[in-house]
Amino acid sequence: MTTPRNASSLRVLPAADPLRDASSGDLSIPARAGTTLRWRWRHVVVLAACALCGAVAYVATFTFYREEQARGAAKRLEFVVLSLQALVHRNEALPGIIGLKSTLGSLLDTNTLAAQAAANAYLETVAKASGISAVYLLDAGGTTLASSNWNQVLTFVGENYAYRPYFKDAMAGRTGRFYGIGSTTGEAGYFLAAGVVAPGGARGVIAVKLSLEKFEEAMRQSTDVVILTDREGVVILSSVPEWRYRTVAALAPAARERIRQSRQYGDLPLLALPGPGLDFTRSHATLALEGGITHYTMATHASEDLGWRAALLVDQAPSRRAAVLAALAATSVAAFLGALTVGFQEGRYRREEMRKAKRALVEASARLEQRIIERTADISQANASLERKIEELRRTEAILHETRDGAVHAGKLAVLGQMSAGMGHELSQPLTALRTLSDNAITLLDGARLEEVRENLHLISELTARMGRIMALLKAFARADSTSLEPVAMDMAIHHALMLVESRRCEVRADILVSSTLATRPVRADATRLEQVLVNLMRNALDAVESRAERLVRVAVRQKGRHAVISVSDTGGGIAPEAMQRLFEPFYTTKPAGAGLGLGLALSQSIVESFGGRIEARNLDRQGALFTITLEVY
Ligand code: ADP
Repeated sequence: MTTPRNASSLRVLPAADPLRDASSGDLSIPARAGTTLRWRWRHVVVLAACALCGAVAYVATFTFYREEQARGAAKRLEFVVLSLQALVHRNEALPGIIGLKSTLGSLLDTNTLAAQAAANAYLETVAKASGISAVYLLDAGGTTLASSNWNQVLTFVGENYAYRPYFKDAMAGRTGRFYGIGSTTGEAGYFLAAGVVAPGGARGVIAVKLSLEKFEEAMRQSTDVVILTDREGVVILSSVPEWRYRTVAALAPAARERIRQSRQYGDLPLLALPGPGLDFTRSHATLALEGGITHYTMATHASEDLGWRAALLVDQAPSRRAAVLAALAATSVAAFLGALTVGFQEGRYRREEMRKAKRALVEASARLEQRIIERTADISQANASLERKIEELRRTEAILHETRDGAVHAGKLAVLGQMSAGMGHELSQPLTALRTLSDNAITLLDGARLEEVRENLHLISELTARMGRIMALLKAFARADSTSLEPVAMDMAIHHALMLVESRRCEVRADILVSSTLATRPVRADATRLEQVLVNLMRNALDAVESRAERLVRVAVRQKGRHAVISVSDTGGGIAPEAMQRLFEPFYTTKPAGAGLGLGLALSQSIVESFGGRIEARNLDRQGALFTITLEVY
């Protein structure tokens, strides 16, 4: 069977594989890239909403707590200020009242030791009775004439306090108020002073020193940070001891000079508090303390009459902590709600997408089915077309066979033509002999030589039998046989071929040497056609040796596995190089016109191939050509 010529058109079909098409774009499920992007955005929005909720909760909670803090701080500060004011106001009239005592007036008038002793005793009694630190009498020059602490080591007696503002105020008829560090004792106190009045103005001054220690002690017990400053901003009382005598802001040079002159704070450096300082107009403050920066909510109060300013600071850390907790809670709730919403929506979208994917899958499978049906129809058509082609090929093959058989037949006739001269010679000899023998027989019969007549007739019979054999061979050779293959004995085929070329051999005067392993098994062939091939090869070999000095043709048969190899070699001039490629072409011949048709080898090849064998040709090393036929054995 041969391959159909249009096989390439059929190869197109597998390329259009419907299953492969199913994976191509038009059958695939819709892409999810857009959806993924949408979800990403949704997550971003939820995160942003969570952050916003957290921020709002933080600000709201912090503001609320801070305001609460501020309200509480303002109340507590009010209480502190009122307590302080009560302490001062309670004692405010005391210097004036004490100054009314005549004992003190006497001392101012006489300044005798007796008057001083009486005044000292009186002042000591007053101090003890009213629970004040000290009370003392200054003369108009500011020198202390008598004092409640007259009998103590650090007594004020003899000291001059003319530089103190309270002395100056009292001498001017005003109530002297002053907070400062005692220049004699070094102890801080609040000084109240009033003039000892005389018709011509103040003769002296009574000063009272109040200790704020107990008050400060009470402040320290509180958790609040309380600051009390003087007019210049110097901290005179504080629940934080280290802040005392620090300034809430850097002191201006003029203020520092004023303080220096009144010796209000002795030699203290009066450094500013660490950090940005306190601004009494604001509601919060930031201080850089040892533990780090602390933010405070601040309540302030200014007492104009006492010349004080008070501030109560509440650490904002708890408010911030509460705000952070509220922010965390709000963020968590928002995140939870966001997750619920997103989860719900995502679930809805997933279900929607799954529905879409399912629909797409159903559509794709419908398209796939349609395509399979189309392709199946294509394939059926192609198969039908293929079958038609095969049928055509079969017909063509049959025509070829017929043509080949015809050609073989024609070749045989050609060989017969070539052989006719030899055959004529072959037949004319016996005919001549027959006439001679029959003439002789008549003569011998006349002479009643019956024995010789019998001998003649016997020879005549042999001659006719031989002629009959030659004729039978020629008849068989010229017949267009069918190609039924059968076991053919090689020695018989060679023998018949030799008979057919015998006349030519005699003409050429050549020798044909047959060496055969007679045990060779029969080959698979058609006897007549195989003989025809052998005759062709032998005749070619005889032609080749005709003009040679050594005229020898060798025919040999040997078995090689499942094959028999028949070789025909000669001592001729060998195959011409230009003829080698074209030997088996029909009508190729190197022989002169009329001598050869160029059909012998072409027919021989066709015949051998129809047996399923092969024929090959080559030149021998020494001289001559060698043709081999390989056939299958039974
Ligand atoms: P033809 O004998 O009619 O020429 P063939 O087909 O039998 O046709 O041979 C083709 C050619 O092959 C011959 O013309 C010859 O040139 C060459 N040929 C065949 N046999 C031999 C041989 N034994 N020695 C040399 N040449 C040969």
